[in-house]
Amino acid sequence: MSELMIEVDNLSKRFGDHVVLKDISLKVGKGSVVAMIGPSGSGKSTLLRCINLLTIPDGGKIRVGARTMSFQGGQASKMREKDLASYRATTGMVFQHFNLFPHMTVVQNVMEGPISVKKVPKPEARALAMELLTRVGLADKADTYPDKLSGGQKQRVAIARALALRPDVMLFDEATSALDPELVGEVLSVMRALAEDGMTMILVTHEIAFAREVADQVIFMRDGVVVEAGPAEQVIDHPTQAATRAFLSRFI
Ligand code: ADP
Ligand code: MG
Repeated sequence: MSELMIEVDNLSKRFGDHVVLKDISLKVGKGSVVAMIGPSGSGKSTLLRCINLLTIPDGGKIRVGARTMSFQGGQASKMREKDLASYRATTGMVFQHFNLFPHMTVVQNVMEGPISVKKVPKPEARALAMELLTRVGLADKADTYPDKLSGGQKQRVAIARALALRPDVMLFDEATSALDPELVGEVLSVMRALAEDGMTMILVTHEIAFAREVADQVIFMRDGVVVEAGPAEQVIDHPTQAATRAFLSRFI
């Protein structure tokens, strides 16, 4: 593998007595795409949230680019808010339910991060936001409020908003799961273009065909462990584990 962008080492997380991530390790090369698949409750969202530090792991290590963080009994929870915000900016996150700011226009949604986290002057933030909205095909919606947009448009704004912080990696948590079927394609196209542009991405998805097409590596998770990981064609077309086969058989 070429230069690594993300390295997760023995990451663990529990909620009360429930161990949700058990010593997870994974490596993501710079510019490569990893798809995470697995049944509901297997810990996929928790893993993404840990990489973004929306959830603080109990143990293990995470490196993204030049930043390494070790966790031990909530040690990292003592990180200063400012450091957390600047770390989170390096890992753009896109959620199933968009989470746009409803009281802001589309362009204001995209400008907000650079202005508040990076103190970018407004005119510069607006120019960047317009450039990103053009990239996701929504420049003409800049002054519209989110409630006037379709789900696919909202998700494309959410992607532009995450990109505005110029992240090193993009994390997508079931970005198309809440969309009507006819709107899934426009969001997948934006994700595909990002991958082709060399963005390092981890995506949790139930779009198995998309995972096979775009991902370099597929990880199958169940009950907080990585059951199987490897090249997309191998894991999806020739899984070696019975649990992976059982899971994938639901999509045929
Ligand atoms: P997935 O995304 O694969 O469906 P999640 O990471 O959302 O799985 O959840 C894994 C397990 O952790 C589930 O059993 C879920 O109920 C539990 N869980 C997730 N977040 C919390 C939380 N904040 N508090 C308690 N339990 C949680
Ligand atoms: Mg989830």
